[in-house]
Amino acid sequence: MILKTEGIVLKRFDFRETSRIATFFTRDHGKIKGVLKGIRKDHKKFGSNIDQFSVNDIVYYFHRDAELHLVGQCDLKAFFFKIRQDIKRTLAASYALELVDSIMPMEEKNELIYDLLLRYLHTLEDTDDVSKLVHVFQIKILLLSGFRPYLDSCVVCQAKISPKMHFSMKLGGLICENCYGNDHAATHVSRGTIASLVHIEKGEWKNILRLRLTALTQKELKFILNNFLVYHLERHMKSARFLNHKR
Ligand SMILES: [Zn+2]
Repeated sequence: MILKTEGIVLKRFDFRETSRIATFFTRDHGKIKGVLKGIRKDHKKFGSNIDQFSVNDIVYYFHRDAELHLVGQCDLKAFFFKIRQDIKRTLAASYALELVDSIMPMEEKNELIYDLLLRYLHTLEDTDDVSKLVHVFQIKILLLSGFRPYLDSCVVCQAKISPKMHFSMKLGGLICENCYGNDHAATHVSRGTIASLVHIEKGEWKNILRLRLTALTQKELKFILNNFLVYHLERHMKSARFLNHKR
């Protein structure tokens, strides 16, 4: 079966003498792995060098029983020069690719996450606040992939948000003063940060980018989001490995 779609290169490596294998996150078929035969020998064979985070139109031969598909055509659509010229932007792009790669199973379509990644890369070229954009991406991908932290009330007793809330990685959300005993590792989180988290989660892309974050909120978001993602992704990946092993 021949399939045609648009895909973002998550990673790539050289294969045998002249070929290259790439993992694409595609709009229509999710994450796929493809081999581009002869790409290192004949530079005109493909219209793209399949650089990381480039966007390409690809045509590939889908094998139902194989994990690796044969890519017949690959044409570059977006290269993101401005990201590549700046180390901070390049790292921010690589980080997003890694997150998508860890969260998305093979060949599972998720157009919302595809659009999020594409929009993130385009915004990353021009934004003057890379850290804020990374936080926006983290919050949105948590929401879209079903790992959303619980922010509506205390996750244990449902008490309303108060100025004395803590964030618990283990319980996956906010806990109130009375429930702090359930997780002594929970860290205090200010009301402003909770409001920013909710605003970013629910808000439109354009409005979110205009949001100003205080120094305290930036610090708290960085701590909570980085740790929350590591904590949940590790558990997610362990269970995925376990399931693969069982099969
Ligand atoms: Zn509580």
